[in-house]
Amino acid sequence: MTQETPLRFFPTNAARSASALPSPRGLARALAGAGIFLRRHRGAIVATQWCVVLFYSALVVIPAFLPVPPRSGAHILDNLRLFAQFVFWGLWWPGVMLATVFLGRVWCGFFCPEGYLSELASRHGRGKAAPGWLKWPVWPFIAFVITTVYGQLISVYEYAEAALLILGGSTLAAVAIGLIYGRGRRVWCRYLCPASGVFAVLAKIAPLHYKVDRVAWDRGQAPQSGEKEEAGTGKLNCPPLVDVRRMVSASDCHACARCAGQHGAVRLAGRSPFSEILDPDVPARTTDALTLLFGVLGVATAAFQWTVSPWFLQLKIGIATWLVEHDHFILLESNAPWWLLTHYPERNDVFTWLDGLLVLGYLLGGGFLLGVGLCLGPLVAAWLVRRLAPVLNWQRFALALAPLGATSVILGLTMTTVTQLRGELLPLPWVPHLRIAFLAAGCFVTLWLILALIRKHVSGALVRMVTFGVMCLPVALMATLWSLAFLAW
Ligand code: SF4
Repeated sequence: MTQETPLRFFPTNAARSASALPSPRGLARALAGAGIFLRRHRGAIVATQWCVVLFYSALVVIPAFLPVPPRSGAHILDNLRLFAQFVFWGLWWPGVMLATVFLGRVWCGFFCPEGYLSELASRHGRGKAAPGWLKWPVWPFIAFVITTVYGQLISVYEYAEAALLILGGSTLAAVAIGLIYGRGRRVWCRYLCPASGVFAVLAKIAPLHYKVDRVAWDRGQAPQSGEKEEAGTGKLNCPPLVDVRRMVSASDCHACARCAGQHGAVRLAGRSPFSEILDPDVPARTTDALTLLFGVLGVATAAFQWTVSPWFLQLKIGIATWLVEHDHFILLESNAPWWLLTHYPERNDVFTWLDGLLVLGYLLGGGFLLGVGLCLGPLVAAWLVRRLAPVLNWQRFALALAPLGATSVILGLTMTTVTQLRGELLPLPWVPHLRIAFLAAGCFVTLWLILALIRKHVSGALVRMVTFGVMCLPVALMATLWSLAFLAW
């Protein structure tokens, strides 16, 4: 008897685990079933959303009315202000970004209190149609830049008053928009939410999405068992106003599952994280490209790094010295209110007018310059292949940097997490290694996607090589900036 005989009857552990893995078809069925399950259990999702609304409201409002904790002696677990600060900025924001990268915009669809309250308000509001000016696709980018810069000016990551002003103000605006526009829709989320542009970019590389079979949709199949259309209306209600039949991108979809199984044509499905950017039939929108280059990678990176940047410090010292030498003291005063510039004398944390102007200039000017530098790669790459592959416009090359954008924003947001944990005197010796490994992985995945894009659409070894080389530049620029921040500054 050969040694193979018993293997046929008694599989090895490896063979056993391989057979226990679901087949691709089984996995696809399970995912589609999960989508239908979520659609059928809308009540549980609404209950979850109410829980999030209550938790979020308590954490935004209550800490703002408590005393500012001293610099030492207060801890995350015994001070509500520090606890709320840690939950919002240390866990919540990085978690939301990670979830968007891996699952699509599930935060928007299942948990976001702002979106849910806006939708609720719009069910009882005036129900007006969104006017043309409100649909201007650049609003989310502008709102993102304003929120990011203003947040840094009033130190939103550190102080509960600032968080209440920005998060509470944003929620009130979302409800107000809901009361005026849309009928049970999320006009705020679709056209105005400051985070929606960032989510739209990150969701492009999510391996989960709602896939629409347009042929099946057009066949107009009757809804199948358990796949009922919106009760009472006979129509599908997509809250962020997506044209579901024509949906080819996960950017605007809130992954709310309300269309799962619609006409037997929509299902939750897995995909390659690269598929949306590689597919020429999925439009590469200019607003998404600009948001990625100038917002996520530009202004946001400047916002994450200005506190550790020696360039910022040298600029500040240079200007302050010049002002003192020339007897100009107005800009060195620190009498701005806390809602305009950080002002917490009890913690010895006050911004002078000069600080405010420099932060404004560094974030807007530095972010813009960085965006321009990053833009050069996609512009030159698109020019190089303009005849060979007209489908590869600069916007598509720019969107190939989406994994780098996700890496950068997660690295930046977790800087706050690390600072807060270090404030608790937790030893975190592994953090620098993890950061560099994460940065390297983000750069590697981005380069892989760029290579796949070029290989798919461009023929000719030399053009491929030169185009790839050009597209390596924005990746190298971001890798250098983050390495400086983590290793040198
Ligand atoms: S397309 Fe609309 S209804 Fe369907 S999952 Fe996305 S947000 Fe929900």
